Amino acid sequence: MYGFDEITGNGQIIKNFESAMFHGRVSHAYILSGQFGSGKKLIAKSFAKALECEKGIGLACGVCSACKTFDSDNNPDIFYVKPTKTKALGADDIREQVLKQVDIKQYRYRYKIFIIENADKMTVAAQNVFLKTLEEPPGYAVFLLLAENSELFLPTVLSRCVTFKIRPLGSEQVAEYMVKNRGILREEAFFLAEYAGGSIGKAIKLSEDEEFGLMREDITDRLFALRDIDLATALMWAKEMEKYKDNPEMLDIIYMWYRDVLAAKKLGDEKYIIQKDKLQKIFAQAKKESNIGLGKTLSAVWQAKRQLGQNGNFLLTMEIMLMKIKES
Ligand SMILES: [Zn+2]
Repeated sequence: MYGFDEITGNGQIIKNFESAMFHGRVSHAYILSGQFGSGKKLIAKSFAKALECEKGIGLACGVCSACKTFDSDNNPDIFYVKPTKTKALGADDIREQVLKQVDIKQYRYRYKIFIIENADKMTVAAQNVFLKTLEEPPGYAVFLLLAENSELFLPTVLSRCVTFKIRPLGSEQVAEYMVKNRGILREEAFFLAEYAGGSIGKAIKLSEDEEFGLMREDITDRLFALRDIDLATALMWAKEMEKYKDNPEMLDIIYMWYRDVLAAKKLGDEKYIIQKDKLQKIFAQAKKESNIGLGKTLSAVWQAKRQLGQNGNFLLTMEIMLMKIKES
């Protein structure tokens, strides 16, 4: 895992980095900044692995001892710096995990690499402690700082780092990644990618979340049957759905379902459908619905979402929503 070929998109960043490696101009510190799930950590790990590979510069061959120990998280020259006491990285964390380590030469491989997650959450004191190392880093040290907001770094820290801005990926690229590297079926991958809004991190999280998968099946089965049951039964569902009360994804699943049914109804082409794994059911339901009714349904789901967002009563909100859907 973690060769550059595994990274989707962001080709220019990889090119820049490879060129630095081949020309022996690897910087001591990089900031990889991008939103949650944009692939910062994957890129940082690929950098680290490529830097250490014993087969040759930038190879990340996967078979040498540097690569093997890297893959099993046992590479003695790679350090993951994390907060220990609070959510923020404090000055003590930097002293303990970076300063104490950095002056000791690397154990075995080419570099000693520190991957600092949530580096933008470093306190000002921590950044000032870190700055001393950044000003005079030993030749073998490389720092990879992962951040959502590079604006949070002190200018003195920023000016000593090479910053790469990681762009969020398109759904197509995320889907492709999920198929290739996670063995997810294409139809499902497409849905996950779209649902995760182009975030590989979120798509992976959802694919591993068994509860999410089961909830989605249950809810979409119910929605598919909703037209054919009476109102009393529909209202009973509100109670049964209480088990999903604390899952914020629930209403998004309902919304996504009707969104796809509307797309099927209006546009009639599967290329507009997000839930490619449910095409048959979506087109079948579209036949039973009207355009106006679907519009009303979507607005009812939207209202329910807003209601629950304002701590509205779950049962009541669900009952009203289901009633409106039945009527529309
Ligand atoms: Zn290798």
